Amino acid sequence: MLSKQLSTLCIICIVFFSLAEIGQATNRPVVVNIMIDAELSPTAQNLTPQEEESLELNSLVEMLTDIDSNGINTTVYFTGDFASKQIGNVSYKDYLIRAASKPNHEIALHSMTTADKLGLMSYEQQLSLLTRAKDLIETAYIRDDRSLTIKGFRPQYFNQSEDTYKVLDKMGMAYDSGFKAGLLYAPGHKNDTWPYLVENHTFYAVPVSTYRVAGNLVYTCDLCSKQSIGLNGTQWSDILVGKFQECADQGDPMVVLFHNFVSGDDDEYMTAFRKFVDFAESENATFVTTMDLVEMAKRNSPMSGISPAAMGLNSSNLFHTLNLASSSSSKKFALIDIFSFSGSLS
Ligand SMILES: [Zn+2]
Repeated sequence: MLSKQLSTLCIICIVFFSLAEIGQATNRPVVVNIMIDAELSPTAQNLTPQEEESLELNSLVEMLTDIDSNGINTTVYFTGDFASKQIGNVSYKDYLIRAASKPNHEIALHSMTTADKLGLMSYEQQLSLLTRAKDLIETAYIRDDRSLTIKGFRPQYFNQSEDTYKVLDKMGMAYDSGFKAGLLYAPGHKNDTWPYLVENHTFYAVPVSTYRVAGNLVYTCDLCSKQSIGLNGTQWSDILVGKFQECADQGDPMVVLFHNFVSGDDDEYMTAFRKFVDFAESENATFVTTMDLVEMAKRNSPMSGISPAAMGLNSSNLFHTLNLASSSSSKKFALIDIFSFSGSLS
């Protein structure tokens, strides 16, 4: 009799805490990593110098001004050739120096030029190219008179090989964001939405968020949405808001990619960028750099000998379970708890 009462009490407690946990779910801020690519436009050769500046530089300044006025974090991925371009007496490096000087801007490496296809190159070629590009950018990565080191990377076109991974290890990179949730992933990580350590390597894979359009999974990027899918700015804006809400429901981080030469070329896309920042801000999103996102995953993924594989979890829901953060996955666990207890009663 006593054991039955105790069981009932346990059930009440579990239901109470589970419901409390579910209640928190809706309030938990979505973690957002805005990646801004600062690179040279593939169509710049047809433009006047003023148009080039507007497309490549003014667009970047406009986006970063918006980021800064909201007091939020971002990661800017530069190409090496962006850092060395000059139009008349306008030095692109000055813009990089300014962007790099702000503590809310992480600077990351986006290869040497937009045309680079690392996956087609040898290990030596890649190591030489990426080292030169990194050096070019790092000469401008100075904050409070201190030289900073680039820790993050994304290849052009998501094009990379096992040799690229070895090069990243050699260069001491902490992460590679050349992955797409559910689309492009290291073996065994199809469902991961949070960064994960790549097996046999020393860097983390950071999956860019994906969304569904006409039944197909597409990565959340302005360039892809405009050129490959053909969305107008309003449609892109709707995708961004919809994806944010999906991330809120599922406890996923939102990792989204914008380009200087896309927003610089299309007012509607620039408006979509601003609207997204304002919307996410109004929803109390936590804006992080890509490095912050990796640190969050590091702190919460395979630790204390718990293997996510053994628990049947991916890094995404492991993060939430260990934090008692609520997402659809931990809601699911809560319901399983309730059912298994009521099952033992009957
Ligand atoms: Zn890019």
